[in-house]
Amino acid sequence: MFKGILITKGDAGYLAQLQSIDDSVLPEGDVQVQVAWSTLNYKDGLAITGKSPVVRRFPMVPGIDFAGTVTHSSHAAWKVGDKVVLNGWGVGETHCGGLAQVARVKGDWLVPLPAAFTERQAMAIGTAGYTAMLCVLALERHGIKPADGEILVTGANGGVGSVAIALLAKLGYTVVASTGRLAESDYLKTLGAAQVMDRAELSAPGKAIGKERWAGVIDTVGSHTLANACATTKYNGAVAACGLAGGMDFPATVAPFILRGVTLYGIDSVMAPLAVRLQAWERLARDLDVSKLEAMTREIRLDQAIDVAAELLQGQVRGRVVVDVA
Ligand code: NDP
Repeated sequence: MFKGILITKGDAGYLAQLQSIDDSVLPEGDVQVQVAWSTLNYKDGLAITGKSPVVRRFPMVPGIDFAGTVTHSSHAAWKVGDKVVLNGWGVGETHCGGLAQVARVKGDWLVPLPAAFTERQAMAIGTAGYTAMLCVLALERHGIKPADGEILVTGANGGVGSVAIALLAKLGYTVVASTGRLAESDYLKTLGAAQVMDRAELSAPGKAIGKERWAGVIDTVGSHTLANACATTKYNGAVAACGLAGGMDFPATVAPFILRGVTLYGIDSVMAPLAVRLQAWERLARDLDVSKLEAMTREIRLDQAIDVAAELLQGQVRGRVVVDVA
């Protein structure tokens, strides 16, 4: 038996509870991990509250990511004592996840804990931070340089947004942070934003094409925000879309794509191949300022995770939440 959050669905409805979990609940896997730290990402908020059908098998341990130590392994790449990190692969959705003290997973899903980070730091980055890095890599691959102009980051106070700002600023880009919480402007500037804008400027239905402003965009919001961001991206610029915090829809026209050669990159962290993950973690180790990471991170205990998940979905959480699972 070990401690963790378990989501059940039955006569009592959809229920997430902290409880003792029997080992038999865990699915098959060739590596067992003693989880030290996990996190709360937006998707964990959806899973724990049941607000969206993220969980597709019951009972389920939520938690789309974790860091910990291998305790059993029949996988060639891993031995007892190895420090590992997991992000995605349906963990916390279809396969029991990180918000419990023990996880049993496929060894193919794990990456080594980067030497630059402690387990806590790796989870302060978590899936949100690793996704922010994937977005930055997409803009870089597109060839966008700091001299090309401003980079817009939407959902700026969120986990992806906060890490994206810190990374872009360190790399020399001029970042404009779009937020619904202007009161957090000082925090966003501390992370590296050159300017902060009210997200209301982007969230209403806009024109098919507008004045060119952004060399690149990292969008975590979707819906009209993403459409307006595309419509105001400069000629040959690029938009990396990874989120739907404002809505799943995309009420846009083709105008920015066919008149300005704008490129829209879809960013997926869940099924990203191992080589992409390793590159993202390597770049996080090089390009993320750990003092900024600490400034954006709030630490909670496992018994607080259910309440904080609801706060996260209400947009009340700033930056990243790291969960002490041990
Ligand atoms: P957070 O909850 O930490 O941040 C989301 C932020 O979006 C909020 O802090 C808020 O920022 C903004 N926001 C919230 N509601 C609205 C709204 N109705 N309209 C406009 N803005 C809003 O989430 P994460 O950073 O963890 O994730 C962000 C998004 O990215 C989520 O949709 C998540 O599912 C997605 N994601 C996708 C991944 C992928 O693989 N594609 C991986 C990781 C995350 P502010 O207060 O500054 O306005």
